[in-house]
Amino acid sequence: MSLYWDVYHETMSREQLADIQLKRLKSLVQRVYTSVPFYRQAFQEKGISPGDINSLDDLKNLPFTTKKDLRDTYPFGLFAVPRSEIVRMHASSGTTGKPIVVGYTKRDLETWSDLVARCITVAGGTKEDVVQNAYGYGLFTGGLGIHYGAERLGATIVPISGGNTARQIMLMQDFGTTILTCTPSYALYLAEEIHAAGVDLKNLRLKAGIFGAEPWSDNMRIQLEEKLGISAHDIYGLSEVLGPGVGVECSCKNGLHIFEDHFIPEIIDPKTEQPVPYGQKGELVFTTLTKEGFPVIRYRTRDISALHPEKCACGRTHLRMERITGRTDDMLIIRGVNVFPSQIESVLLEFGETEPHYLLVVDRKAGMDDLEIQVELSQKMFSDKVAALEVLERRLRQRILSVLGISARIRLVEPKSLPRSEGKAKRVIDKREL
Ligand SMILES: [Zn+2]
Repeated sequence: MSLYWDVYHETMSREQLADIQLKRLKSLVQRVYTSVPFYRQAFQEKGISPGDINSLDDLKNLPFTTKKDLRDTYPFGLFAVPRSEIVRMHASSGTTGKPIVVGYTKRDLETWSDLVARCITVAGGTKEDVVQNAYGYGLFTGGLGIHYGAERLGATIVPISGGNTARQIMLMQDFGTTILTCTPSYALYLAEEIHAAGVDLKNLRLKAGIFGAEPWSDNMRIQLEEKLGISAHDIYGLSEVLGPGVGVECSCKNGLHIFEDHFIPEIIDPKTEQPVPYGQKGELVFTTLTKEGFPVIRYRTRDISALHPEKCACGRTHLRMERITGRTDDMLIIRGVNVFPSQIESVLLEFGETEPHYLLVVDRKAGMDDLEIQVELSQKMFSDKVAALEVLERRLRQRILSVLGISARIRLVEPKSLPRSEGKAKRVIDKREL
């Protein structure tokens, strides 16, 4: 079984990596300056020309790219090649206004497949595996991104897309699926339905799950690993930077390796916009080094994480990124305290008496923020006495208060009463008019 997909790039020294990055960064800056009027103007406003990039440290002088810039240049304003060189486009769902459009050249698709093949290998996959891909196919990058990466690896891909849970479970048994790829919330729903259908885990050949497209906690990992009998790996990527394949967890599960031969990650303080040292949390920013169609310079992801440079026990030298704990834009501020849904998820899952299905309802009552946490009871707990439920409610309330520093009302609800999602789960309803 091969441990590495690209042993040369995955294990090279940090000095060698820095050499490759600088060479690629210089060429990238030259390319966008010449081909993308938006970047040329942004560089000129900062008084920078491509010749000013002489070390990786000079990266911090380059302008940021934001989601707003992507919207303002809709649809093709940030493409760095003529439209005829673009062989595929993807777009974000765009809940408000126009979507964000990204384009790939032929070579970009090859690079992307190669990086996803690398991800699946890092998560323990080989060409012997059967990959059931329950990410949505379409404009969303998740489905097709995983699809071509699994093919590049030489594994057997089952392009089932999201939803149709009964069929998912049938094929999983009949095809001998070994790797499941989808959002963690859908994986959890699938696990429940597998148990409800009375399928014995021993009759499944599942060994690993590669889950992404939404933040999830380590306690959620424990649940998924137990319920599905697998090793669960977090994968990271976003359409603006590539799609899935930017980074993934190895078997050490001590962070996601970011593939630094193709991307330069930075962590910045979102307020001062200055880079922060390794280990410190902040907003994740990416520069793409090899993309041709839609390269980005210092793209602000709004995802919150920290980076760790120490070499990993798996032998890879690439930086490890902490799992995303939230996004600067889904951070809730409740009575002045910063709260991320994933922190609450983590507390709820410590107890084992509730299920990882929850909904946060925020409202403002008499001028005060009010947080209600609705969480499903486990089947076992549901049949329990009222007194036991009151005790559980109190324990949860106290634990939320001590971990997050906010008081919340806990509403224990019946098993399977909260809405299920086949893609990204909706965890927050904010009724406040701010
Ligand atoms: Zn590792």
